[in-house]
Amino acid sequence: RAKRDHRGEYVQYLDHMGTEARARALLLSNLRAAIDDKLLFLAYQPQIDLQTGTVIGLEALLRWRTREGSFVPPDQFIPVAEASGLIVPLGRWVLSTACQAMRRLIDAGCAPQRMAVNVSMVQLRDPGFYSAVCAALLGGGLQGRHLELEITESVAVLPTQQLEATLSALRAMGISIAIDDFGTGYSSLSRLERLPLDRIKIDRSFVSQLSQPPGGRIAEMVAQLGRKLGLQVLAEGIEDEATWKALLSIGCQQGQGYHIARPMAEADILAWLQERVKASRG
Ligand code: C2E
Ligand code: MG
Ligand code: MG
Ligand code: MG
Repeated sequence: RAKRDHRGEYVQYLDHMGTEARARALLLSNLRAAIDDKLLFLAYQPQIDLQTGTVIGLEALLRWRTREGSFVPPDQFIPVAEASGLIVPLGRWVLSTACQAMRRLIDAGCAPQRMAVNVSMVQLRDPGFYSAVCAALLGGGLQGRHLELEITESVAVLPTQQLEATLSALRAMGISIAIDDFGTGYSSLSRLERLPLDRIKIDRSFVSQLSQPPGGRIAEMVAQLGRKLGLQVLAEGIEDEATWKALLSIGCQQGQGYHIARPMAEADILAWLQERVKASRG
């Protein structure tokens, strides 16, 4: 049996495939076609110092816009790209595209300190990852300190030594490492303590609890844990003023979220950054 993908090509299905597997095969085929057709792009969301309002970084987020104009969310297609290995070349494209955007922002005189890029554990396991990062930096004429890699806590399922070695080599280049969605993974605290890290990102699910009783006790614990480990702590998913204030009161200094700015296409983030530079010069 075969079904047409969006280009009218036939995707081969095996009879033993379940509905779920077929849906994934179709999604993968459509993703490959979308990559060829250049329908993927990056959006950038500001990360700020919550005390001063200074933009400290941008997070690059992958976007897939279909020909019909709708968006396929990364939470849907990233897992499929990971399972198929397509995330390796796709992740390289993300790295180099983000580094080139960072170069243009630097040249425009409004770049923050760094660009943060999400990397999945499949990429980290790839022996070519380190050289892909170097190539991306070189392509943008950037230094390691311009780049941060956001890894999810689930990478801790990699052998500790291998992960430590990979992260240490990256940090030796000046690249910073953030643990994303902290608190939702399943790594042990002892392992977390051993990993060479710079920043913990408090998951949005804990941050959103700050605006309702009993008031985000997990977010507070994560902020304390980060301080104890000597790490910077950044809250994701700040959607209102109350959450922002609550974060400052629990000692969380950095954040990002719709209340500050949504992820924006490159032209929009450039305008947004230029506006802030202008405002800060009075
Ligand atoms: P993440 O890295 O934790 O990214 C944060 C997600 O929260 C983004 O969703 C962002 O658009 C969204 N967000 C930011 N502020 C707010 C807010 O105030 N409220 C709410 N409700 N959401 C907010 P997005 O872009 O859909 O990405 C989802 C996930 O997909 C990311 O989670 C990341 O794990 C993955 N992802 C995105 N781009 C890439 C990529 O280039 N490579 C890899 N490996 N994964 C990626
Ligand atoms: Mg992230
Ligand atoms: Mg996150
Ligand atoms: Mg996430």
